[in-house]
Amino acid sequence: MSIQNNLNTIKQTLPEHITLVAVSKTKPVSDLMEAYNAGQRIFGENKIQEMAEKHEEMPKDIAWHMIGHVQRNKVKYMASFVNLIHGVESFKLLKEINKQALKHDRVIDCLLQIKIAEEDSKFGMSQNEASDILQSEDYSVLKNIKITGVMGMATFTDDTLQIEKEFKLLKSTFEDLKAINSANTNLHTISMGMSGDYQLAIACGSTMVRVGSSIFGSRNK
Ligand SMILES: *Cc1c(COP(=O)(O)O)cnc(C)c1O
Repeated sequence: MSIQNNLNTIKQTLPEHITLVAVSKTKPVSDLMEAYNAGQRIFGENKIQEMAEKHEEMPKDIAWHMIGHVQRNKVKYMASFVNLIHGVESFKLLKEINKQALKHDRVIDCLLQIKIAEEDSKFGMSQNEASDILQSEDYSVLKNIKITGVMGMATFTDDTLQIEKEFKLLKSTFEDLKAINSANTNLHTISMGMSGDYQLAIACGSTMVRVGSSIFGSRNK
């Protein structure tokens, strides 16, 4: 199957309100261009350097999403162009994104990464931490970032019930956070679901899925 075929097949199964992020990490620009030529305009990368290089080389009407763990000292390399940062897991990082966005006179959309998995290896904050941020004075003065939703990654397991439980936790966390009324916040995005579980994620309330290998094929390590 070609990338174009994979993409079309997936798009046909997605409800209209679902945003598809094509996760292109490790893949060459030629693969991304195949998806681009098939109409895809949102790409997700997990390394800032790699995303910046691809951004340089590719058409400028692409929305670049940072889906990986973000080191604070590297935010400056994407602040001029990144469209959405999925993995914000601390207030310190939010402050740095705000600082770098200000330099470019931009407002950068961010998702708070919530820890829903049982694995210790997964990053993210608790619902309490997220709600503390949204209600804090320190957050309300950050004018160059906007928190637009939440992101989560389920445990890596075959246990569908476990994954479903974790997706539902993210959905309920989102609803609770949405009920908090705060400035520069407009929560509308739930980023959850990857190649193996995006249909389940959508059934649990996802609005944005991050699909890599089902589009581009498996990644060689
Ligand atoms: C790699 C990655 C994906 C895509 O995974 P696939 O299983 O290839 O679809 C989604 N989200 C994050 C955060 C990733 O790092």
